[in-house]
Amino acid sequence: MSVEIAGRERVNLLGLERAGLEAFVGTLGSKPFRARQLMQWMYGRGESRFEAMTDLARDFRVLLAGRAQIRPPEIVTAQRSSDGTRKWLLRADSVQAIEMVYIPEESRGTLCISSQVGCALDCSFCSTAQQGFNRNLTTAEIVGQVWLAERELAREYVPAPGDSPGHRAITNVVLMGMGEPLANFRNVVPALRIFTDDFGFDISRRRVTLSTSGLVPQIYKLAEEVNVALAVSLHAPTDELRSTLVPINRKHPIAELLEACWHYIDEQNGRSVTFEYVMLDGVNDQPEHARALVRLLRGRPAKLNLIPFNPFPGTLYRRSSTAAILRFRDELLSQGVLATIRRTRGEDIDAACGQLAGRVNDRTTVRLGNKLIGVAVQS
Ligand code: SAH
Repeated sequence: MSVEIAGRERVNLLGLERAGLEAFVGTLGSKPFRARQLMQWMYGRGESRFEAMTDLARDFRVLLAGRAQIRPPEIVTAQRSSDGTRKWLLRADSVQAIEMVYIPEESRGTLCISSQVGCALDCSFCSTAQQGFNRNLTTAEIVGQVWLAERELAREYVPAPGDSPGHRAITNVVLMGMGEPLANFRNVVPALRIFTDDFGFDISRRRVTLSTSGLVPQIYKLAEEVNVALAVSLHAPTDELRSTLVPINRKHPIAELLEACWHYIDEQNGRSVTFEYVMLDGVNDQPEHARALVRLLRGRPAKLNLIPFNPFPGTLYRRSSTAAILRFRDELLSQGVLATIRRTRGEDIDAACGQLAGRVNDRTTVRLGNKLIGVAVQS
């Protein structure tokens, strides 16, 4: 693997998976095991200062400081919901921002990260879509989100009796923030490897979930590269309806998408695909939709995750009533399809699914550095 060093710019080591880091330390005249030592400092201990990495030779540390850096995205704002959910707005560059969300639960802590600035897919019920597509995040920016959140959360951590010394606030990572991860395949795959590498964040592959709107060729490619958990935004049981909600369906219809999903599970020896299904009042929440889903999914390695719609300014959709959502779930369960309802978290800070970087249309502006910008931010 070759490592490109652009001009005099210091290489951000958060962007290099293990093989890339080994190649990089090789260019500095060091042995591959130095890369693993570096990773232990970076990911095991959250260290970003080379001078603090005391088991590395002094000369090597000096060399690293001149040629490399460990630089996470910069925090613009941090918010905390009344339910404990956290949201950070991060600077993507001088004018653009992305968001990440931390969802603490009794037995786990999930970080929801972004893969792109904006999104090109134009799903009609998602506020990120309104912003359009700006650019792909780099691997360093994707990995840097987890690195940064772990550091921020570790600062506040008060050990409880019985906690293991290597306590981590983040046990699960989901690529369900802004952007379509499979449209940024090249940068996302190395990030997934760093999440699961035992010298990286060392998260079990079942606890790293990539969610896609259904880029079929990339699902086949992904099956060859990594084996993380797969979530797919289904949202409708028929092509006619799905095409109105998730326009990429016109290119990759449901039958093709499901074939790719079953292939992924076969290749990965995985348990099941999670199908996300946003509950839109009067649109896709009727008993006939549940029955059509049963025909698609019964007997398959599939479970459905029903997401109550999270509204945002300007949307014409409404959330299905609680009664309708429960009825829908029960219909699926009674016909042998596993279904759960996603608990809405962080709504008071617009951190819930589909609300990230919302409010593009409310003319909110934010001051980033000295520039006034119009990206999606909450006031
Ligand atoms: N682009 C990827 C991941 C991002 S969104 C994908 O499409 O899967 C994560 C989930 O939130 C997706 O299932 C998405 O369809 C859903 N979602 C988007 N907007 C929503 C909204 N307003 N309310 C509830 N869920 C929403």
